[in-house]
Amino acid sequence: MQAQSAVSQEISFAEAPQSTFTTAVIVNGMPKGAELVTSRGREQERLHARAVEATRGQFGRRVFLRGVVEVSNFCRENCLYCGMRRENQSLDRYRARLDDLSELLIHHRPSSMTDLNIQTGEDPVAVRETVIPLIRRLRDQTPLGLSVCLGTLASNVYDELQAAGATIYIMKFEIADSAAYRRLSAPGTLEERLEHIRLLARKGWRVSSGFIAGLPGQSVDDIGDNLRLAGQLPLAGCSVSPFIPGEATPLHDATTGDIDLTLNCMALLRLMRPDWVIPAVSALNLAGPGSGYHRIGPAGGLSALSQRSIHHDRRENSLRARSGKTGSVRTKPGRILSGRRRPKRFRCRRGLITVPNFVAYGTKFG
Ligand code: SF4
Repeated sequence: MQAQSAVSQEISFAEAPQSTFTTAVIVNGMPKGAELVTSRGREQERLHARAVEATRGQFGRRVFLRGVVEVSNFCRENCLYCGMRRENQSLDRYRARLDDLSELLIHHRPSSMTDLNIQTGEDPVAVRETVIPLIRRLRDQTPLGLSVCLGTLASNVYDELQAAGATIYIMKFEIADSAAYRRLSAPGTLEERLEHIRLLARKGWRVSSGFIAGLPGQSVDDIGDNLRLAGQLPLAGCSVSPFIPGEATPLHDATTGDIDLTLNCMALLRLMRPDWVIPAVSALNLAGPGSGYHRIGPAGGLSALSQRSIHHDRRENSLRARSGKTGSVRTKPGRILSGRRRPKRFRCRRGLITVPNFVAYGTKFG
């Protein structure tokens, strides 16, 4: 109880935009705090309604569509919760080719995509040989907002990425509790991770972070610590990823993170920081098969939808684009992702996402 009330005091929340909220959500002018992550039924509906209003006040009814490109799945780290960990011998490793990616992204990306996130495992080779030149080409030849998620790197590499044209760095702190961070072999140390987040912010990056909801043994207080840490960091955005037990990881037998827990965390983040970019991560559809994305709008946290991912298909040596709504769409470099197989409309119960092709709101992220 002590930890929960400390969380309530330390997390600052946005003012309720209207007087339609009830005292069941707000106590002494403040939401109840981290215990709301377990809310269900009417209480959860009220929490989500409040987050929806905060989202609409900032972003209206539109969301951004951010494509995700997985350039490499090599990783020098060994996180217990991730299938890309270095000790996973069963994973086919790849690094996508620069020219293939350039061709696809410059000439054949979906027209709805306004932003692109380029990500790798912790693989400095791929950063040097592929990511930096790819960003230069994209900056020169497309209007895309460019974010990167590449792990901790040397300070001069951050500068090179920035000079190439990337503006947002995604570095998730994953777990706010340093003992759990160590126990789960999360990358490096928590202190180092946080220092890199602060360094990136000082260098002028817009930094987005994130944490995992539903890890084995995680308590409500732990979730509160995650929310509180997010609020203390110099961030422009934050995601919440439901824990997904990877098949070839030491946690493969653990229970999948709860979708309601995740959505409640997103709603609380939205109330904490109405202006943050809070993306819908693809793992939401794994935690809530067939419904994960559809519940994000009503939960109110959403401002960006990472619906498509593009990655290298090793068996066919082709680039493959995944759509969260229609399943997989495969394309050889040179084929256009369009026509009937491209999702035209994404429906949410309360209509947060209704515009065809996800028209971007205002300017891009980056
Ligand atoms: S650093 Fe990232 S990609 Fe590598 S094992 Fe950990 S979570 Fe996976």
